[in-house]
Amino acid sequence: MKTELLIATKNAGKVKEFRQLLSDFPVVLHSADEFEEIPEPEETGETFADNAILKARYYAEKTGLISLADDSGLAVDALNGAPGVFSARYAGANATNAERIAKLLKELSEMPIENRSARFICSMAISEKDGKILHLVEGICEGKIAFQPTGTNGFGYDPIFIPKEFSQSFGELSDEIKHKISHRGQAIAKIIKFLHDFAVS
Ligand code: IMP
Repeated sequence: MKTELLIATKNAGKVKEFRQLLSDFPVVLHSADEFEEIPEPEETGETFADNAILKARYYAEKTGLISLADDSGLAVDALNGAPGVFSARYAGANATNAERIAKLLKELSEMPIENRSARFICSMAISEKDGKILHLVEGICEGKIAFQPTGTNGFGYDPIFIPKEFSQSFGELSDEIKHKISHRGQAIAKIIKFLHDFAVS
């Protein structure tokens, strides 16, 4: 029997990435979207790891499925690590990606390219249905913030994030390249290694 795993998010962009990233792994994936009656938990943690653990535990306990959660965001050096854990809420709870991007570009409007360093960070946690955390990992992708958005691939801040050693934004780069180098791609590689060992043990 194949292992069942719940992707503990209702963010369609993330679910799509998880499905692509785990496409070669023999696991039946569910997403939090299938459980309309379960409200999303409040992300009250102070770190990405705190929030990943909180979300994985919440959905595992509520659904009875082993749950994989990520918490991720963008940390800009010139803004002392902001928006960080507030990346999704940076321009208010109901703001659009375009509004979040506009706010960030405005904050950095005086900054020359050498002061626009940033990184995407992703923590991932897997919880059993009793809330026991089976594994916790982190992936980091270094880069810089562009002067204007380019491209329509990906989601969130992708159109203004230029990963290190590239000249195009994640909005322009293919999904394939993004998954190889992204914070989420790196974290999921560690999770897949863990799931392999878990499945055979
Ligand atoms: P959360 O992990 O659901 O709290 O949301 C993290 C937020 O960070 C997302 O809503 C995006 O705004 C941003 N973010 C995280 N990962 C990415 C990414 O791969 N590309 C672009 N934006 C991202």
